[in-house]
Amino acid sequence: MKKCVFCGGHVEKAIVTFTYKDDDKYLIVEHVPAEVCAKCGEKMYSPDITDELLKFAKNKFKPVKTIKVPVFDFAVHQ
Ligand SMILES: [Zn+2]
Repeated sequence: MKKCVFCGGHVEKAIVTFTYKDDDKYLIVEHVPAEVCAKCGEKMYSPDITDELLKFAKNKFKPVKTIKVPVFDFAVHQ
């Protein structure tokens, strides 16, 4: 049985949404096969999946859709 490298919790296979941020560039990849820690929620990707995700980050694929994301500033409401 696989264990979480961070907390030692039980790791389960799951389909997750991968989010990536690089400066002001964001991207979301849906339906990514991953392994998720049941205890701390850490998502882990196999080397093959990581390679694929890097291709998305380098704009190798066309997005299926583009969404508008509202941006808030916590400091504004202090
Ligand atoms: Zn964990």
